Amino acid sequence: MHTMSTPIYTLSTAEITDFLQRNGQPAFRRKQLFEWLFPRQASSYDEMTNLPASLRTMMAEQLPLIPLTVEDRQVSKDGTRKYLFGLADGNVVEAVGIPSGPEEAPRLTVCFSTQVGCAMGCVFCATGHEGFTRNLGVGEIVGQVMAVQKDFGYRVSNLVAMGQGEPFANYEMVLDALRVLNDPKGIAIGARKITVSTSGITAAIRRFAEEPQQFTLAVSLHAARQEVRDRLMPGLVGQPVKALRAALFDYVQATNRRVTLEYLMIAGVNDSQADLDALLDFCDGLLCHVNLLPMNAVESSPFNPSGEATVARWVAACEAAGVEATVRKSRGSDIQGACGQLKN
Ligand code: SAH
Ligand code: SF4
Repeated sequence: MHTMSTPIYTLSTAEITDFLQRNGQPAFRRKQLFEWLFPRQASSYDEMTNLPASLRTMMAEQLPLIPLTVEDRQVSKDGTRKYLFGLADGNVVEAVGIPSGPEEAPRLTVCFSTQVGCAMGCVFCATGHEGFTRNLGVGEIVGQVMAVQKDFGYRVSNLVAMGQGEPFANYEMVLDALRVLNDPKGIAIGARKITVSTSGITAAIRRFAEEPQQFTLAVSLHAARQEVRDRLMPGLVGQPVKALRAALFDYVQATNRRVTLEYLMIAGVNDSQADLDALLDFCDGLLCHVNLLPMNAVESSPFNPSGEATVARWVAACEAAGVEATVRKSRGSDIQGACGQLKN
């Protein structure tokens, strides 16, 4: 008989639990196994000495444990580190570690990927140019975070799902991974310190609002005028700006939490007075924070960042309208580790 072999890190926690149940394991086995797989990042089943040897042998055959490999590691002048991780099937994904804070209380933000590639096709994004390959599993998502933490040698303080991929196009696995990372008895990263960035999939935003954990939501708006957004973000054409705005109002009402709106400023493309007016209309009455980001250079891209004067004018206009706005400082751009520069 042919036995299926699936790398365990590509599965969900429910699929792993099912496997244990199907094989007659007692309920407490789940906790033991998950402890090895996630917080401890065991490199093989042999290490899991509190599991029966017969189970370990069977799992090694049917659900091989193949840790992420570090295929490449680059360190930016500002201390940001970019990693290229190899997966069991030969695909690769990137993650970025961004250190901050004082030496005695260092902070570490990890930006991780949720898919190999991305299907949304945003024209300004290096990942979008590559197309979609596949979704990541829970262990592949958690493994990126733990590998970066290990390399820095101190605890991750903040997480952002802003690497490759559209997290809400892999909703179940991403939320499953966030629950593992948030589990107070496990890796214990506070929900409020975990941000999911979506290009704006409205049905998933509504679903996210119902999650019991207080995860933070960021939306890549980039244009509040429908025709401009359609041109920049072709994968979102079926999800109008109006519907996005309605979903965000409902999100705020359901959660009482503020939404971050990311706005990549591209010279002559989405930074006109009409674009600014549309953005202010979008924000009117919405509990939000606007994060303006002069776009990062992407190889062979026709786009250029908006000028400093334009960005400063937008910040002032937002403030005058009572909309909180900041300019995001880009980190790691010299190693192509900044937002939108991640590609394989
Ligand atoms: N797919 C999700 C999360 C990953 S992209 C999303 O789009 O939100 C993370 C952020 O990088 C998004 O805000 C995205 O719009 C932004 N980004 C993409 N290309 C960029 C570029 N060239 N310069 C700066 N930011 C970019
Ligand atoms: Fe995908 Fe986000 Fe890049 Fe758009 S910006 S292509 S949604 S990763």
